Amino acid sequence: MGVLQSLLHVILALQVTSFDLRVALQRFGLTAIISAGVVWLLMLPWIRRQAYEFCINLHIVLGLFTIVTLWIHLKNRFDLDGYLLIGSLGLLGLTTLIQVVYQVYRNGRGLAVAEKEKLEGAVLLSFTPTRPWKVRAGQYIYLRIPAVRLLSFAESHPLNILWWEENNTDEKASRITVLAKVESGFTRRLESCPYNSLRILLDGPYGKPKDTVHYDNFVFIATGIGISAQLAYLKELIMRKDRGYRLRRVCLVWQVDQQAHDEWICDYMNQLLDLDKPELVLRWALFVNSSPPTGYSTKGNGDFITESGRRGLEFYGKPDLKDILKNEVELCPRKLLLVVSADPQTRDMCRYLALKQKKKIDFFETEFQPAPAQGGFWAPEGGPIKSWEQ
Ligand SMILES: Cc1cc2nc3c(=O)[nH]c(=O)nc-3n(C[C@H](O)[C@H](O)[C@H](O)COP(=O)(O)OP(=O)(O)OC[C@H]3O[C@@H](n4cnc5c(N)ncnc54)[C@H](O)[C@@H]3O)c2cc1C
Repeated sequence: MGVLQSLLHVILALQVTSFDLRVALQRFGLTAIISAGVVWLLMLPWIRRQAYEFCINLHIVLGLFTIVTLWIHLKNRFDLDGYLLIGSLGLLGLTTLIQVVYQVYRNGRGLAVAEKEKLEGAVLLSFTPTRPWKVRAGQYIYLRIPAVRLLSFAESHPLNILWWEENNTDEKASRITVLAKVESGFTRRLESCPYNSLRILLDGPYGKPKDTVHYDNFVFIATGIGISAQLAYLKELIMRKDRGYRLRRVCLVWQVDQQAHDEWICDYMNQLLDLDKPELVLRWALFVNSSPPTGYSTKGNGDFITESGRRGLEFYGKPDLKDILKNEVELCPRKLLLVVSADPQTRDMCRYLALKQKKKIDFFETEFQPAPAQGGFWAPEGGPIKSWEQ
């Protein structure tokens, strides 16, 4: 919006005056608009994704540079234009101050120490918060871990709260666990760094929990690390049921690239299944998105692998979401809540199916959604896109 307004300002100004770079006012105006344009470009997702930390830091530096050049560009600095600029700086200062105070409050009693556990393609971090709070599903925290690499004290990475243990007295979290999928930057170094105990700086919690009390039936659909945004909801639902609330059916469909990824949540699922008695409302299915190993023989519908623990099924191939949702809708007397944390293609599919049955399905996308699988336009993943109507 700012860039568009600036362009409009330039077009209108050029109607009444000619452009001359020898005039300082115009020189600084041009510098300011170029700098604002670069700030805007840096925030485009497909640029930011390439080098997140670089883009964020350059954004801050260029943002301040734009304000300074704009100030010099102003004709009447102590008029409305100048006051608006000072006001915007004041707002930036105020929000930064609030964030600093919040972080000091959260870490003021000492820095928590996280224990690292390496899993296949991911890392689990568990810690006891020094200033605990009542955790809700849907919350995430920003972690700063200076020991990971040079300058990592300047990086802050958001991670969903995957699991937590509660204090019996005040229900505040006595232990919090997050799951970080190994990507190419900070998380790769986190996995390979030689330390298993890491002091962390905690910022948060953030995130608005979805109100789930009005539903009895749920379908959770996740791909890959999207599960990190969903497990906490399963825990909250099963714990609520344990306290006597009504819950009819909870179904988790999770698509992964490797079968070994089921260890990311296996222990926690077992705890939930133990708690889910006597009615047994929780079911889950794991879909391994790769070709079956050699010597693998098919059963039933052709892609059944094995029963995974209690009420868990594992398959090779992609889930038939249309069929799964049709079954769940048939078993649901009222509206069900469909919760999705998945790659863009799966999300589009879920949105389409939910729209088709909007009288029976409420649709909710969690704040964190996994990035698209590697590939892109020139190397589309998984071959041609299938028609949803099939
Ligand atoms: C609200 C929210 C919750 C998240 N929860 C989880 C989670 O529970 N588990 C998990 O594995 N991932 C989660 N992520 C994504 C996670 O923050 C990034 O994957 C992680 O920061 C990547 O670090 P990297 O340096 O290894 O990434 P890179 O390999 O440099 O980049 C991989 C991807 O991560 C993005 N990214 C890099 N740094 C950041 C950052 N500081 N903030 C946001 N995105 C970044 C990049 O744009 C890129 O798309 C969450 C993201 C958000 C916004």
